[in-house]
Amino acid sequence: MLPSSVLTNGKIYGIVAREINYILFTPTVGIVKHSKNISRYDSVLLNRLRIGHCRLTDSYLLSGDDSPTCQSCGIPLTVKHILVEFANLQDIREKYFTVSSLADLFDRVDNHTVIDFIKEIHFYHQL
Ligand SMILES: [Zn+2]
Repeated sequence: MLPSSVLTNGKIYGIVAREINYILFTPTVGIVKHSKNISRYDSVLLNRLRIGHCRLTDSYLLSGDDSPTCQSCGIPLTVKHILVEFANLQDIREKYFTVSSLADLFDRVDNHTVIDFIKEIHFYHQL
């Protein structure tokens, strides 16, 4: 809740408005440090995955097709499903990491490990 002192006739004034605007529209990726020896392609790929959007899961938005579904599970195909949830990839996933969420994955797992996992599951050029 905004302090009443910054609201006048329903309008927000001054520096507080700029701060609120910053909070509302700051990208969720934030400051991400990538290894110096990571490729541009991998860096872009990791950023896409970090925000949960990639070509495979979101290209339907531009093409007008139906949203993709996981052929095995019949549920919407999402970055989280591919990287964290999809049970058919569990054995391969456990070779690289064990996480409970995308945030956990990108907080705790090295970028190269995530990329190696994506390559092994053959999604590297699809995401
Ligand atoms: Zn699935």
